[in-house]
Amino acid sequence: MLQGIHTFRSRITLLTGGLLLSLSLVLVTSSYYVASTRLSNASGEYLVGISQSISNMLTANLIEREREIILLSKRLSLYQNQNLTELEQTIDQVKNSYKHYAWIGFASPEGVVLASGDGLLKGADVSQRPWFINGRSGPFIGDLHKALLLESLLPKQEDGAPIRFVDFSAPVINEQGKLEGVVATHANWLWAKEVLSSSFTAVSKTKEIDMFIINNDGDVLYPDNHLGDIYVPTTLPKDGQFESLIWQDGKDYLTSKAFVDSPESTNLGWHIVVRQPVAIAMSTVNELYKLLLTLGIISTLFCMILAYRLAGALSFPLERLAGTANRIQQGDRHVTFQEDSQSHEVTSLSRSLQDMMSSLLDREQTLLQLNSTLEAKVQSRTAQLEATNQSLKAIVRQDRLTQVCNRLALDEELLKEYELARESGNPYAVIMVDADHFKKVNDQYGHTVGDTVLKKMAAVLESIVGSKGMVARFGGEEFTVLLPNTQIENAQHLAEALREKVADTEMYTSLYVTASLGVALFKMTDDHYEQVLNRADAALYEAKGTGRNRVVVSD
Ligand code: GH3
Ligand code: MG
Ligand code: MG
Repeated sequence: MLQGIHTFRSRITLLTGGLLLSLSLVLVTSSYYVASTRLSNASGEYLVGISQSISNMLTANLIEREREIILLSKRLSLYQNQNLTELEQTIDQVKNSYKHYAWIGFASPEGVVLASGDGLLKGADVSQRPWFINGRSGPFIGDLHKALLLESLLPKQEDGAPIRFVDFSAPVINEQGKLEGVVATHANWLWAKEVLSSSFTAVSKTKEIDMFIINNDGDVLYPDNHLGDIYVPTTLPKDGQFESLIWQDGKDYLTSKAFVDSPESTNLGWHIVVRQPVAIAMSTVNELYKLLLTLGIISTLFCMILAYRLAGALSFPLERLAGTANRIQQGDRHVTFQEDSQSHEVTSLSRSLQDMMSSLLDREQTLLQLNSTLEAKVQSRTAQLEATNQSLKAIVRQDRLTQVCNRLALDEELLKEYELARESGNPYAVIMVDADHFKKVNDQYGHTVGDTVLKKMAAVLESIVGSKGMVARFGGEEFTVLLPNTQIENAQHLAEALREKVADTEMYTSLYVTASLGVALFKMTDDHYEQVLNRADAALYEAKGTGRNRVVVSD
């Protein structure tokens, strides 16, 4: 696996993958940034639009209500000094004209309700109520408040929420400019709900858009079901703008705010706040981001597969070349570097490797031949040396004149036989042969003839002994015959045969010589190899002494 990562094609594949993935991430992220900024602006503007349209509708409604109360105050001023029944009829008429008027009443300048719709609160003291106090001097709109005196007199609301009113009041002034009283309406807060719910489209609901009416203190007036449990952030965007804000639930909301432009008479300080979770507002772009990211990853994987195959096409010839080189290294001489790649460089490399290999193989062959020639030469030289050595050994052990073994060779063989006989107990025999009166030969014929006689005599001894033993020149005109594994009788017979042959052989023209022979046998009592020689010598001495040309066997 580790080797897999280090291959050419794996590296190319990983590099391509890494580059494309980085590129995709950069592109997707920058697209996301651009798209999210645009979408955020679009969503924000959308929320601003909603908040402003609600604000406008609410403002229009407030103005309408205010106009109505001003109109009513003018109508009521006409009824001064008339009976109250007629006045009440006018009030009822107005009240029935708008379903959200919960109460309409007319209070005297002292704050006592003189007439009212359905006679509700008639006679009640309202002198301390803000609508009365403010309504004496001019048109007035009171901030949202719970029903106090009317709570028990009006039917309960469907959702069980407390009845809340917005008061509208105006002074009733007669032709002389004198205050006749104050007329007021309590508009049920349901009208505001109606205005807002008309703005709630199905799209707004699916987009989780919430709308709030807040008063000057930031308290939520609408919606009812959030009263007291939801608070708008303390810092809100400026009117007609939007911001991304963290609300009390810890979530991020795109938030817009619009001022409710209440009639000039009273500044209610209401605002419309519209919010939408950023996650929802950005959901489109988030989905787009996921889609782009998935596409990026898929295209990266696709390109990685392509790169893997392409790199493979490049690396396969190289891998095959490496494989061939490996086989050659392991001793296979029958492979060739033949790579017909589409890549010129690979083909060229293949040819060069093949040429190099051929050249190396030629040299290897030459070396092998040289080596075998050298080996043959060494073998031949060794054989020659061996032969020379053997001949040197033979020369060293040969007597130069007679060509039989010399004293050195005799001593070696005698020692060997002595040790063998001591181990096996099989005896060996020694015959000492000495030419008789040889001094006379020299004196009579000359030294050269003497030499010739000695050579002839050696040859005669050899011819008789043959493979039965060895003949050695002991020194001067004296020879020794060694007969391995031989009993004394056989030795004696051979000695006799030797004596006869010497005597019968013409050594030189008409020149005959005789020889005396002493025979001795190895004894187990011998403690030195020369002892048997000494005994043979003693026997020879005896043969000389007893007339020569004879054989004497030692005891
Ligand atoms: P005997 O029968 O007692 O052996 O008498 P002999 O004369 O053979 O013995 P002696 O020891 O008196 O003399 C040996 C002679 O052999 C003396 C020497 O000149 C001769 N001789 C020894 N070596 C050689 C040699 O290599 N060539 C020649 N031509 N003569 C040799
Ligand atoms: Mg002698
Ligand atoms: Mg002699």
